Amino acid sequence: MKGQNMLLKGAFWIGLYVMIAVLPLVVVAIGPTPPGREFWREFSVALGFAGLSMLAMQFIITARFSTVSAPYGLDVVLQFHRLISLVAFTFVLVHPIILFIIEPETIRLLNVFEAPWRARFAVLATLGLLVVVVTSLWRRRLGLSYEAWRAIHGWTAVAIVGFGLLHAIGVGHYLSLWWKQVLWAAMGFAVIFMLFYVRSLKPLVILRRKPWRVVSAEKLQGDSWAVRLEPDGHEGFRFIPGQFAWIKFGDSILYREHPFSISNSAEDERQVEFTIKEAGDFTERIGRHARPGTKAYIDGPRGVFSPDRFRAPGYVLVGGGIGISPLIGILRTLADRGFTGDLLLMYANKDEDSITYRDELERLESMLNLKVVHALNEPGDDWQGETGFIDREMLEKYLPEERDERGYFICGPPPMMNAVRDALVELDVPPDQIHMEYFQLVD
Ligand SMILES: Cc1cc2nc3c(=O)[nH]c(=O)nc-3n(C[C@H](O)[C@H](O)[C@H](O)COP(=O)(O)OP(=O)(O)OC[C@H]3O[C@@H](n4cnc5c(N)ncnc54)[C@H](O)[C@@H]3O)c2cc1C
Repeated sequence: MKGQNMLLKGAFWIGLYVMIAVLPLVVVAIGPTPPGREFWREFSVALGFAGLSMLAMQFIITARFSTVSAPYGLDVVLQFHRLISLVAFTFVLVHPIILFIIEPETIRLLNVFEAPWRARFAVLATLGLLVVVVTSLWRRRLGLSYEAWRAIHGWTAVAIVGFGLLHAIGVGHYLSLWWKQVLWAAMGFAVIFMLFYVRSLKPLVILRRKPWRVVSAEKLQGDSWAVRLEPDGHEGFRFIPGQFAWIKFGDSILYREHPFSISNSAEDERQVEFTIKEAGDFTERIGRHARPGTKAYIDGPRGVFSPDRFRAPGYVLVGGGIGISPLIGILRTLADRGFTGDLLLMYANKDEDSITYRDELERLESMLNLKVVHALNEPGDDWQGETGFIDREMLEKYLPEERDERGYFICGPPPMMNAVRDALVELDVPPDQIHMEYFQLVD
């Protein structure tokens, strides 16, 4: 029932998206329209309006509204955001190209020094779009840090929609009526408000009302830290195992938040724990950012990577490296709940020193109906367990007989996750029983 509900919600949001994307075309068709214009000109204008409205909607898609992302998961929503931005970019580019073909003299509008403002706005919006697409597709190659990219992305996106609106209002063929201008201007403000809400209002006002405090930060094997927090003067929140949250440590106004999976049991009433791997400029200094007593702000819980959303009589968990963090949360919760179904954890690491939670996993094996299979890429001479990548052969060796009735949760480096998913599908596991949590939202 829950799955069906999610499907309906998912279909609802897609339907709403398509409706809003074509709404501008309906609006521009109402009231006076320029007479005698040929099909290709009208088609080009339609592409421009649809492209602009799709770009405006990108702000809503990325505003982290749980109801929007719940049916799909954040990674799928962001994947949609990325793909749809390429479609919108194509619409916006094709819009003037058609005009240049049917009326070649309009090419002179590209000369921003002499062109009227309405054309300058169009050129600026298109250049902005180019900046957003190039910096998003090739961020690493351009040497941009995540934070620099995020700032460029957000503010350029606002500029694109602003310039796009000014262009549409400036041309005015379809927006001569005052209410249409008000409608489009309102859309522009809504878009800017959405960004302001996510980047400023929510962190500085809403989250600030519910601070958290670091209780402990313990260094673990595998260059990771277990950071525990408790609510400071409020009730905290309830979460389901496998979810994640955005965290900002410290009280500075500077806004720098990172997503981490919640790795303690969902049955813990008062605290949350995150297992954080030293991976980059922020996480390498996590021991300093998360000193006991430090204030923190948590935006969550979020995500759908959870056996509570996809119930099954038993579960197969496949983790690589720090991908163990939501999986240990799931196992801890199942242990607290006295779960009796069969559980398999296949856990890939580089070498024995990289295995996080090794002792605890042994303890969980004795408490649950759980088998833990470690696979090492660079095993030492005395290693008795599995070696190499988790592949089809290794999965086939350990999967339970009733593999089509189990729930599968995979988290680790993306190439590993994709290879394991493909191998599971080859082994006749129904794809809708395979759930994945990607730790890389952009790259
Ligand atoms: C849903 C989810 C759950 C995660 N759970 C965990 C976890 O439990 N434990 C863990 O160690 N890591 C987790 N991560 C990954 C973690 O967020 C990044 O490793 C961390 O933000 C890297 O920051 P950095 O500045 O140290 O590294 P950098 O070298 O700056 O970044 C490394 C990569 O991390 C990503 N990243 C960096 N900053 C951010 C940010 N502010 N927001 C989103 N992505 C960012 C980018 O893809 C970047 O390329 C999770 C990520 C996601 C999306």
